[in-house]
Formats: sequence, structure tokens, C-alpha cells
Amino acid sequence: MSRASVARADVAAARLRLVSPVSGWAARLEEVPDPAFSQRLMGDGVAVDPTSPELRAPCDGVVMSVHASRHACTLRASTGAEILLHIGIDTVMLRGEGFTSHVQTGQQVRAGALLITFDMDLLARKARSLQTLMVVVNAEGYTVSDCVEGRSVQAGEPLLTVTGDAARASEAEAEARVLREVRLLLAHGLHARPAAAFALRARQHLGGVVLTCKGRTANGKSVSALMALGAVHGDTLSLQVEGEGAEQVARELVEWVAAGLGEAIHLRAAPGVAVSMPVPVPASTVPELDAAQGERILSGTLASPGLALGRAVRVTELTFEVPEVGAGLEHESARLDEALARVRAEIQAAHAAGPGAGARGDIFGAHLALLEDPELLEAARREVAQGRSAPWAWRAVVERQAAALVGLEDARLAERASDLRDLARRVVAELMGRAHSRVPAELPPDAILVADELLPSELAALDPRRVAGLCMARGGPTSHVAILAAGMGIPAVVAMGASALGIPDGAPLVLEGDSGQVRVFPSESTREVTTRGLAARAERRSARLANAHEECRTADGVRIEVFANLGRPADALSAFEKGAEGCGLLRTEFLFLERVHAPDEEEQTARYQEIADALQGRPLVIRTLDVGGDKPLAYLPLPREENPVLGLRGVRVSLRSPELLRAQVRAILRVQPRGACRILVPMVTSADELRAVRAVVEAERGALGRAEPIALGAMVEVPAAAVLADQLAAAADFLSIGTNDLTQYVLAMDRGNAELASRLDGLHPGVLRLVAKTVEGARVHGRPVAVCGGVASEPLAAPLLVGLGVTELSATPAVIPDVKAALRTLSLAHCEQVARAALSLESAEAVRALVRSTWPGL
Ligand code: PEP
Ligand code: MG
Repeated sequence: MSRASVARADVAAARLRLVSPVSGWAARLEEVPDPAFSQRLMGDGVAVDPTSPELRAPCDGVVMSVHASRHACTLRASTGAEILLHIGIDTVMLRGEGFTSHVQTGQQVRAGALLITFDMDLLARKARSLQTLMVVVNAEGYTVSDCVEGRSVQAGEPLLTVTGDAARASEAEAEARVLREVRLLLAHGLHARPAAAFALRARQHLGGVVLTCKGRTANGKSVSALMALGAVHGDTLSLQVEGEGAEQVARELVEWVAAGLGEAIHLRAAPGVAVSMPVPVPASTVPELDAAQGERILSGTLASPGLALGRAVRVTELTFEVPEVGAGLEHESARLDEALARVRAEIQAAHAAGPGAGARGDIFGAHLALLEDPELLEAARREVAQGRSAPWAWRAVVERQAAALVGLEDARLAERASDLRDLARRVVAELMGRAHSRVPAELPPDAILVADELLPSELAALDPRRVAGLCMARGGPTSHVAILAAGMGIPAVVAMGASALGIPDGAPLVLEGDSGQVRVFPSESTREVTTRGLAARAERRSARLANAHEECRTADGVRIEVFANLGRPADALSAFEKGAEGCGLLRTEFLFLERVHAPDEEEQTARYQEIADALQGRPLVIRTLDVGGDKPLAYLPLPREENPVLGLRGVRVSLRSPELLRAQVRAILRVQPRGACRILVPMVTSADELRAVRAVVEAERGALGRAEPIALGAMVEVPAAAVLADQLAAAADFLSIGTNDLTQYVLAMDRGNAELASRLDGLHPGVLRLVAKTVEGARVHGRPVAVCGGVASEPLAAPLLVGLGVTELSATPAVIPDVKAALRTLSLAHCEQVARAALSLESAEAVRALVRSTWPGL
């Protein structure tokens, strides 16, 4: 036994005196009119016929459970003894009537704490007996002695002694059970990716892990079962962990859930998906469109923007004749295991061959987790044990689970059913020695795939250059297929309903990803317009890309730096390829969110260095940690806030947790080459905050013996910072405007509010005036001003920002060629003139209209 185990065994072996939970007459268990208690099947203890209506804790402990009918609860004492307190006999039938619980699962209580009150008159009328039981349920590790029996007792008076059996204490400890609760703060609930993340951690624990939510219970190691809980944002999850180390595992799992399970955490749920999920329609019941009817327009939902002209390639169902009866348990089990192993190896190989991160990597990860899902495996083995063939068993089990997900009436979870069906097909095809993809191996040039629903693995396996577009009857804009299509640059329209299935194979199509429309049998003029549109897009794109690496200057030669916003090291290289002249905003949250401990200085240095290397010495503006508000950290507890967006955020958190700031600053100071990095501080409200950060920077620079100074900038996101920009500029080396936050604070519109989304526009004159005010203040001290908020990524907004005096834009990498191209055609003088006019307008729409009419080509 390890030292820790010995210590735990000592605790378990300790004697524990339990006091009476109620006042009343104490009696032997044999006198209770219920064999479950009288024969000590539930454990050893005492009964008290109560004369007081209050059940109180018999010792210090943790509430392990309160029965749904509130007539019983279980406590776990510090010695490990688990004590059931049960009011009356057969009182479960009352379904809670007459009982009021005063505690919750997981709550720590002291001896004498009020647990449950009960209506004695009602129980006297309705219950078989009022006798209240106190029994030690894990009796195999504990001995009950010194029981008071046959006399009246007062609540709080010693009633019996529980002594741990030292010889069996470690066994009892190994069987420990820990209960915890945690709120789910994932915008999209417990869908496939976070479920897989949870299950992977749970599977490292040898003992049981069970999650309960809204009365549904799931094996915590099973991705499919976890998804089927239907847990949505804001739900409370009850976690039960059993076995050795349960306490530690439970703590880690709770922290892991609180940290978002690898997803971003949202204090509010994301808006519901306003997409209907058309049910599958047998293709044969949909009449085929006919060329003779002329051009037909079908509508769906935009999933991936773009334009395509091509021919329909119908992706139809593969049918497998799967025998139900198998060739025996051993044979079929072995076949299933081998097929699963082969599919796993294929997925791993595909995973390794492509980019590891992003949507594609997530999908492969979720599929791998589903392949190892213990619930699915066990259910399939049960079918095989009943004589079914391996493919029949696997298909039946996975189909059942997919149907359960669809039945949850949650569009996002229903979309995940396609992942399961995808897996079912792959494994069954493997077992039957057939190809698993329904997409023909040979595709004509400009193929537009038309499917009821294309599966993620089918799309991921395709070469994007061979597919012009994708339309689907089902799916939603958040489905994995949609995310994949966007990542692969394939225009896609989804959720078209049954009409999509009327598109004949080979029919000419125009797919307008931007408007979510598909034109079947397009007219000659539609084709011409589309062909011209495609040519113009292609030409524009390649010309812009060809020039993307050149410095950005306005038509009259004014230098404007165009940088990239980065959120992950993986994007640095592609940003550089798109012409980024540096990184104007590295959101360092990627290193801090979604984990249980803060990254240390070494880890941070390594990751920042990776990005600096990819940028080959170009400027790298590293923003200090911007958490709090909508980005809480599990390991940095902040007080509960009524209004977190107006609470502890950005620099306010850094100054409150100086050790975190200090480590980050040191990591940045260590990056080579020394001149590459600048430090940017988020959510600054006044100059003294920046001076406080500078003091930390200078102290650490001295401690590291670094001679080279480092530029320190303030983000302008708070209206006061814009208004007092001259004061801020005195304390800063540069300013960078975060228009996302600035807009939400200026317009008093929450940036997470879907209802207000269309009005939350950074081109609102109110925001533009603050941009102008910031530049004016910065000029007093000769400081440059950048914009790193969302408007910097809009080619239409860039000339206005430049016209207001901004000299650096930091944008999403994909749009950098477009932003540079837009600025190259315009003179600064003209930009200034239009920007001045924009400041006097009344609305963002008016500003946009002005820009469009001035520069129609943008
Ligand atoms: C902003 O607020 O504009 C900004 C760039 O910061 P973030 O979007 O990360 O809050
Ligand atoms: Mg911000």
C-alpha cells in the first residue's frame, strides 16, 4: 500500500460516533416492518420512531444523494462510511408529498444540520410506518456497535458507533464514490466533440464514471450515451465517480467541464439554430425535374459561400445485403474487432495526412472516440452473442443510437447523428469488403454533389479541386459537413428539403452559395452571367494573391501596414502566405482557455516562439491574457458577476492576478529575435492601468537582463479610453482599437446578442467618431494607431479607417489580399474626404451606402 493509501486506510479505520438524526424511540432494526431493513439487507444500524418532524445530519459529511421523493438521503462521512437516512417505510410512494429537502447533492454539512423536514400528520395517515432508519450502507468495510435501543432519544444524542475495518479499509476506499455537480456552459451543449473529450478523460479512470442530467443517466465513458443526455447550455450535470482516486478524477472532470471540454465557454447559450431538419425522404417519391420545364430555382441555407457552375452528381444510398444470422460468437466478434481496428487505422492515417487542427481534426477525433465507445461496443457484442452477424449487429446498434439523437429534438445533436451513420457505413462496408463512400471514385470536372446528406468522412476524403459545389436536402449550417465544406472552400447549400432529391443525375446546375440558391437547368443567360462571374472572381482572386506579398500603399503612396489577427500558432504560416506583414493581434487565450492549469512560462515561450518563427522576424503583437467576461478560466476563479461584460475582464484580471501577468510578460520578453514582439494590453480604461503593466514589464526585463526595450500598446475598447486617448498615448508606445468591444460598449449592444447582431455595426458613426478621437489623441504624442477589431477585415471599411488616420489594420488572414487590393486603388486624400462625410451621417447603413456609392468596386 502506498503512503497515501495507508493514510486513507487509517482514516477509514477511525471510530465515528453517529448522533440520532431525529428525536423519538430508538429500536432494533429487527423491529422494522420491512425485510430490507429488518434483515439488514441495506446495512447495519438503528431505527427511531420520530416525535420530531426534522431529520438532521448524524455527523459531519457530504450529501451523496437526496432521493427524488425527498424521503431519504445518503451522507458520506470523512471516514468513508456511507450513511443512509430513510424516513418511514414505503414513503417513496408519496412521491415527495409531505417532505421538504434542505440540502443538495454534493453539499458539505455539519452534524446536526437540517436535512429534511416532514409532515408527521400526513405520514401518520399515509405511510405504513414512520420509523426512520439510519444504516451504514457500505457495511462490508465498517462495523456498527454501541447501538442505543429500546429507549427514547433526543436528536443529536449519540446513537451508535461506526468503526472502519482496517483490513478492509483500503478496499472500501477503492470503492469510494464521489458525487459532484457542475454547470454546462457550452453554447451548443454536450455535442460530439466535448462528449468525446469528456469520455476520453473518463476512460483513463478504471472505476465507474456516470453523468446524470434531467433524469437521464449516461456512462461517462460512452460518447454516444453522453450525447444522448441532450444536455444543453445551462444544464446541471451530476457526476458520480467510483473507485480508487475517485476524488481526484471527479475534481479533474468537473474542472474539465467547467473549462469547456475543449470548446469555448459561453455564459449565455448560443441562439437556437433556426434551421429545420428536413426528414429523410425516399428519393423515389420525389418527381425528377425535367429539362423541358426550363430553369428552376431551389432554395436552401447558405453553408459555405461561393459560386459554382457544373453538373449534378447524385450521391445515392449504398445498399448492403447484410445477413442477420452470424457464424458464431467467436467468429463474428473477431470480425467486428478486426473491422473496427482497420477503420480506426484508416481514420488515423487520414488524420495524420492532413492538417491536424480545425474542423477536420475535430471530426476525425470524434469518430475515433465513437469507435471506442464502450456502450456501442457492448451493445454490438450483445447482438453478436445472440447470434447476429457482426455487420448486422453494428448497423443495428449505431442506427438505434442515431435515431435516439434525432429524437432529442435538438437540431445540433440531430446533426451529429450523421457522424454515427457515417461510422456505421464505414464499419459495415469494411465487414462486407465494399467501398464505404457513396461518392463515385471518378468524378466529372465541375461536379456538384447532390445528396440527401453527405457524410463528413465522404467529404473529408475528397480532393476539393475535384468538387465545384455541394447541395444537400438535409444538414444545417453548423453540421460538420458544412464546416468542412467552408474549410475546403467548396460552396455549399444545405437544408434544401426534398426538392434537392428531384435534381436528376447529370443535370446542369448553378450553385449560388452566397444566396443559398441552386438553379437547375439554368437558362443560357444565367449560364453566361455565372461564367462571367466565375471568371471575374478567379481573376480577381489570383491577381490579389499574386500581389498580396507586396507592401500595402494607397494609390498616392501612403504606407498602410496590413497584419493578421491570429488565434492559434497553426494559422501563422497560412497568414504569412496570404500576405500578412506581421501579426497585429495574437489572442493568447488559445493557450489559457480549455485547460485545467495555466500554461507556465516555458510553454508560453515555446508557443510564442513558434509563431515568431513562422512570421520570419516580422512584427508580432502579443496581447496579454484577455479573459473574464465571456471567457472564464477554470483555474482562475473570479467572483460571480451580475454583468460579467462590465466586470473583471482583460487588464483588470491581469492586475488582480499579477503572477499570471508576470509569467506571460517574461515569456514574451524571451522570444527571439528580440525586436519582433510587442505587448498589447486589452480592456484598458485609464492610463494608470497601462503604467501598472509597464512597471511589471520593466521589472521583468531587468530581471531577465534584457537590454532591448519592448513596445507596449493599449487596446482602445472602452469608450473612456478613446475619449482620453491623449492620456493613454502618453503612457503607451502605440494604440490598437478593438472595434468589436468598442462597438458593444458605445452602442450598449451585447456582442453576443443574436437579436441585436444586425445592428451591432462597427461602421456606426458613433464608433467612427471614437476612432477619429483616438487618432487625434495619439497624434498629440506621435503614436501610431492600429485597428484590430472585426471592421479591419472588411474591404469596405478599410478606406474609412485609413481616412480617419489609422495606419495599421490587423485582419483575418483570408481577407488580407482583398484589403490590400482595396487600399491600393484609393488615395489617402479621397479616403479622408469620405471618412469626414461618414462622421456626419446618422447610421451605419448610411455609412455603408456612402462607401458603396463612392467605390462601387469594393
Ligand atoms: C475587439 O474587441 O475588437 C478585439 C479585437 O478583441 P476581442 O474580439 O478578442 O475581444
Ligand atoms: Mg476585445
